[in-house]
Amino acid sequence: DTGMGYYPARVIVDLDAIRANLRRLAYAAPSAALMAVVKADGYGHGLLPVAGAAVEAGATWLGTAQLDGAFALRAAGHEVPVLAWVYAPGAPFEAAIAADIDVTVPARWALTEVVDAARVAGRPARVHLKVDTGLGRGGSFLEPWTDLLHAALDAEQRGEVRVVGVWSHLARADEEDHPSVAAQIEVFDEALGRAEAAGARLEVRHLANSAATLAHPRTHYDLVRPGLAGYGLSPFAHRSAADLGLRPAMRLEADLELVKAAPAGQGVSYGHTYTTTRDTVLGVVPLGYGDGIPRHASNVAPVQVAGRRHTVAGRVCMDQFVLDLGPDAGRLEAGEVAVLFGAGDDGEPTVRDWADAVGTIDYEIVTRIGPRIPREYL
Ligand code: PLP
Repeated sequence: DTGMGYYPARVIVDLDAIRANLRRLAYAAPSAALMAVVKADGYGHGLLPVAGAAVEAGATWLGTAQLDGAFALRAAGHEVPVLAWVYAPGAPFEAAIAADIDVTVPARWALTEVVDAARVAGRPARVHLKVDTGLGRGGSFLEPWTDLLHAALDAEQRGEVRVVGVWSHLARADEEDHPSVAAQIEVFDEALGRAEAAGARLEVRHLANSAATLAHPRTHYDLVRPGLAGYGLSPFAHRSAADLGLRPAMRLEADLELVKAAPAGQGVSYGHTYTTTRDTVLGVVPLGYGDGIPRHASNVAPVQVAGRRHTVAGRVCMDQFVLDLGPDAGRLEAGEVAVLFGAGDDGEPTVRDWADAVGTIDYEIVTRIGPRIPREYL
């Protein structure tokens, strides 16, 4: 044993929970195929274990943002269709075609590069034409998109691409009953009508993220693309994972490196932004912002030790932070487990508790948990 890989903290990922969550999502969208979105290293849970669990649970598509993740899925032997959608000019489209990775075409530059790559590869690229129906991010707005559609269908005639999909992404599906969802559906339907009129032979039309999969059946079309909910987290501000029948899959815990008595009036951590108010016991947690623990967690985020919740005491440092365990914690010792978040059983904090405490969303908490913390899989 070289000792390499030792870490006094761990991310424990419950793959059964991911399987159950994805089945729950498939049940919510019975008429659609299921793409598990595994971008950003499976939202921090680990690309390959998550992808394996997703396919076992019935996902027939996988989605990544970066091409890199798509290549990794193919290298690991995944044979389901894989769609990648974030790249810039100069992306390795030849390799994508060779690996049978579906690519999005958001604009003319991408069609040009994909067509060139297909000529070299000697086979058509599978493309999904992305229409911006109102998010104001990826894809082309309807009129330029229509030109793109015709150019892509011409390329299809020449055997350079296969237009398999038309797709878009929603801006406000997480806000219940927000009219922008219907407005985006209307533009999407118009785009689909134009595709059909132009003779496109689409395999999949897709629009729905997690929130839409759960709350907006009209967005389901042929394929739904949930990410967050598959990991057991709620996309809605006012509904918990449990309300939605989801189970958070990620647990983050660390072994206390030190437990020590401290006097009243002791300043704690850089800047002394926390001061003990009584003789107490401090516990030092070996995780910090270098591990993706937000520095904004200082003095606000909850951590459970021995069944009791405490709040981060003082500033989160690069590799460590401190808890005030209270005067009666003298029986605790170094090595005691501190749970930053988990499924929420027995009062343990959740990712949502952390997101609320630090003023962000669940997505950011889990995706930032650093790759240097080892992942264990249940
Ligand atoms: N589809 C696209 C294009 C995305 O960018 C994302 C992630 O933001 C998803 C689907 C999945 O979204 P969510 O995690 O909200 O389900």
